[in-house]
Amino acid sequence: MIMEKIQMVDLRRQYAQIKQQVDAEIEEVISSTAFIKGPKVEQFQHNLEHFLGVKNVIPTGNGTDALQIALMALGLKKGDEVITPTFTFIATAEVVALLGLTPVVVDVDWDTMNISVDAIRRAITPKTKAIVPVHLFGQCAPMEEILDIAKEHHLYVVEDACQAINAEYTFSDGRVVQAGCMGDIGCTSFFPSKNLGCYGDGGAIFTNNDELAARMRAIANHGMIVRYHHDMVGVNSRLDSIQAAVLNAKLPHLDEYTASRQKASRRYDEAFKDNPKILIPGHEAHSTHVFHQYTLRIVGFSRDLLKEKLQEKGIPAMIYYPVPLHLQKAYKDDRYKQGDFPVAEKLADCVLSLPMHTHLDDEQLDYIIQSVNQITMN
Ligand SMILES: *Cc1c(COP(=O)(O)O)cnc(C)c1O
Repeated sequence: MIMEKIQMVDLRRQYAQIKQQVDAEIEEVISSTAFIKGPKVEQFQHNLEHFLGVKNVIPTGNGTDALQIALMALGLKKGDEVITPTFTFIATAEVVALLGLTPVVVDVDWDTMNISVDAIRRAITPKTKAIVPVHLFGQCAPMEEILDIAKEHHLYVVEDACQAINAEYTFSDGRVVQAGCMGDIGCTSFFPSKNLGCYGDGGAIFTNNDELAARMRAIANHGMIVRYHHDMVGVNSRLDSIQAAVLNAKLPHLDEYTASRQKASRRYDEAFKDNPKILIPGHEAHSTHVFHQYTLRIVGFSRDLLKEKLQEKGIPAMIYYPVPLHLQKAYKDDRYKQGDFPVAEKLADCVLSLPMHTHLDDEQLDYIIQSVNQITMN
């Protein structure tokens, strides 16, 4: 048998296994015609609250909206500073800028690629109002330290958990908490390729704070609590019923999906740990890793040449992310210049993410591993 074509993310294989449940859920929505704000959305909201052990889940149109609504709910003022890592997906800083707040970017840790606690400490000014840590590639940022800093300086913490749903963080008192459920607010995305993905756009906000939850629910619904009475400026951001139906079918599989990503990551780790040209992902001490991405640092070989040679062998590989926020054209700012965040800049030049999804088989893994080692050892 010929090996199945390797994808960065293989949603077709995943769907084939859950087709019956997914199709039945979608069919129910269509025959009910409750496409918006139907019972499926409420059902998913409760299913996810239960799964995560969080008091409130607020479904949204996508993860970027979730972040925006979260920041809108905090009542920040123009010029207030929000600290975020410079090595991340653009959405994190985008919403800060859109709201007229000032993004203050900081460097990340070389091994975990997550926001650096020391860098956060150095970036705090009297104008700092919030920290938005990103749980990059699927492991939690050092949340215990971040929450301590936030408490000391009276700052809000909004977790960007778009890549890390189902990652678990263990606090020093033994409490184990899901990604997105530690700060004042957590945000996630159900973009199809995320660890819990729907079949279109989707997102959600998590919070244990009922007051913030009520506020964010209203903001996501045109700032409306009593119908056609608008108490605040809001947006229109909804998870639609068909997406909720897909998520209801997939949520029961999330633990198993996480386990299969972790299994693939162990194969990669084992295969590359002694390759002197490559550094395997470093682990955050108190977090599990759900491997949204499996991201290598290519240190003794040309990253771009490796990517090209893998492509020739039918193996996709991606660069997440080639340009840190402070060097993006749209975010050019007199406060920052090249060289200011050396770790992020070095990562942007050497990271390479390998195929990672829930249905990588042994034959595919063997082929990827052999190819990477063969190319880099030459
Ligand atoms: C995917 C992602 C987002 C945005 O989610 P969308 O649903 O695409 O809007 C935000 N932050 C991070 C870190 C992401 O990976």
